[in-house]
Amino acid sequence: MALLELNDVHTYYGNIHALKGISITVEKGEIVTLIGSNGAGKSTTLRTISGITPPRQGQVVLEGQRIDQIPAHKVVNLGVLQSPEGRRIFPRLSVRENLEMGAFTRTDKENSGPDMERGWGLFRRWKGRASQYGGTLSGGEQQMLAIGRALMGRPKVLLLDEPSMGLAPVLVEQIFNIIKDINAQGTTILLVEQNALMALGIAHRGYVLQTGQIVLADSAKALSENETVQKAYLGME
Ligand code: ATP
Repeated sequence: MALLELNDVHTYYGNIHALKGISITVEKGEIVTLIGSNGAGKSTTLRTISGITPPRQGQVVLEGQRIDQIPAHKVVNLGVLQSPEGRRIFPRLSVRENLEMGAFTRTDKENSGPDMERGWGLFRRWKGRASQYGGTLSGGEQQMLAIGRALMGRPKVLLLDEPSMGLAPVLVEQIFNIIKDINAQGTTILLVEQNALMALGIAHRGYVLQTGQIVLADSAKALSENETVQKAYLGME
């Protein structure tokens, strides 16, 4: 049984048919990436999974249980956590408090210690910055903090929306290394990215989304060697 499954999902914004029958599976332990250009429906796919824009047709299934009729705040409690595009951290809370906020969905709050350590592990280069306000961090640091915060909720699946957005290349590299580490420590990840090259570099499998439809699905390696993908998404001629 797949950890997460989308079966023939159709999602609308009013009359706009944003997802036109997409099917995706994410197995436990994988990094699966969803690539595609602007407006293809990548963010909508994540919003559909997390219950923010529920599908009008089709199913979203987590560990064999349908979650597409469940409100977003309850989907979070089931272990589907998203680190949002635009890295919305709490600017007036400290780094430590931001991480602690990530544990609020947990039912076993008293056991959050090991995860806090794990969260800190991501920030090992920033010793002594626990009390610094989140808002004073650089863009890349805020992105890392947002991911660390989501991890504190001990996700079954972590949904990442454009973690590389707006970051300098050196930071993009760091963020992708962190995502790889998080996965190696056991977290399943669904990664939405416009930076297809980096995403395919760390993912196990990928899907290409085009105007609301899946047009290609394969191993990350096969996709990165696919001529159409290379031309359209990897900037190769
Ligand atoms: P981007 O990388 O630009 O976020 P995307 O692949 O994530 O692109 P979506 O944001 O999912 O694409 O958008 C898919 C389609 O749905 C687009 O045609 C977009 O215009 C439309 N859309 C997205 N959000 C809304 C909204 N709130 N209301 C109406 N239409 C929307």
